[in-house]
Amino acid sequence: MKAEMIAVGTELLLGQIVNTNAQFLSQQLALLGIDVYYQTVVGDNPHRMKEVVDTARKRADIVILTGGLGPTMDDITKEVVAELLGRNISTHRPGLEKIENMFRERGIHMVESNKRQADTIEGAFPLDNEAGLAIGNAVITDGTTYLLLPGPPKEMKPMFLNVAVPWLKQHVLQDEQALYTRMLKFAGIGESNLEEQLKDLIAEQTDPTIAPYAKEGEVLIRLATKSASQDEANHKLEQLELLIRSRLESYIYATADLPLESIVVDLMTARGLTLASAESCTGGLFAETITSVSGVSAMYLGGVVTYTNEMKHQLLGIPMNVLEGEGAPGAISEQTATLMAEGVMERTNADIAISITGVAGPTESEGKPVGLVYIGIAERDKHTVVEPLKINGNREMVRVRAVKTVLHRLWK
Ligand code: ATP
Ligand code: MG
Repeated sequence: MKAEMIAVGTELLLGQIVNTNAQFLSQQLALLGIDVYYQTVVGDNPHRMKEVVDTARKRADIVILTGGLGPTMDDITKEVVAELLGRNISTHRPGLEKIENMFRERGIHMVESNKRQADTIEGAFPLDNEAGLAIGNAVITDGTTYLLLPGPPKEMKPMFLNVAVPWLKQHVLQDEQALYTRMLKFAGIGESNLEEQLKDLIAEQTDPTIAPYAKEGEVLIRLATKSASQDEANHKLEQLELLIRSRLESYIYATADLPLESIVVDLMTARGLTLASAESCTGGLFAETITSVSGVSAMYLGGVVTYTNEMKHQLLGIPMNVLEGEGAPGAISEQTATLMAEGVMERTNADIAISITGVAGPTESEGKPVGLVYIGIAERDKHTVVEPLKINGNREMVRVRAVKTVLHRLWK
């Protein structure tokens, strides 16, 4: 079963809003075992809309449109689809009553155009809108299924999940196999390196499939299989997961969609360890990331952002002659990273303290290249470990990856 998504709206083409409906629907369709081969965006233009719907129906079993069901002049989706299918538009009585009642209750004058939201394509199944007034439509004709859904996500989502999906299951999807997925999350390994290690598996994959992708400095693999039952799917996914683990076990930190920071927080909390941070080039991003986890106060004591050399000296006690001057190691150095981590550990009494100092860019600093970042981890009664990282990417990527790498080292 193949589906095509058409998002209608000139504001999408102008970049004024992001097509989140496509993301939502594609994810939901995958869960239903329906393949999405194309996503299209078209403006509120009858000619071009007709053109894309006509194209879509030739290559998809299910054509899903969102947007253009409202009361205004530019809301023309139902008219366009009706015309293409050679059908008339009629008024859905209960839908119209709902609209009239709403206006009456609120004491607002109803203009004629509001009635259009109760329009329905002749012979279509009306899809109730629990969060708004415009009713949706589901039509099957010539072997193609059309779903017309409202544009606003808060209306589209409940209509799709609560009304359209049950309808699809009853009328269209009877014997479909569902898609089952499993996520493996990696830290400390790049996407290309990971792909390299799984090259043979990826090359010969059919079912289950392996899809590696990178997201916010982490690498994920999505395993997916179409199966008739959860048990059958689990069995297939388990086999593949074991195979991948036998090669890459030490990089896998989660099989659920949990962020690395929450795993670190859980782990350290369970061990009764406390944490503090001293940051320079990441400007507090580590603190921001770790404090996004609820319940973090059980283990995170606090941190400092020491951006200038003076602050590294004043707040963390790093000698000025380490930071600057003839022959000094400098702020971006192993020594400074060590002293930052140890300095904040002493001052907070944390069990573990981390430090980050480096060149986020766009220009070099202290004659050191963009992307050179030292990360330090000080631990009570242990030798402080500092690691130089060479991170490729722009300022934002350097900062994000530095933080991710520190989290990964804490997890290890
Ligand atoms: P309305 O009754 O609000 O006019 P509609 O069904 O006619 O709804 P549109 O007019 O196309 O839908 O879009 C209304 C609003 O819904 C947009 O301004 C936008 O905020 C949101 N929206 C529409 N399409 C999308 C989309 N593909 N992704 C995310 N949001 C969308
Ligand atoms: Mg509209």
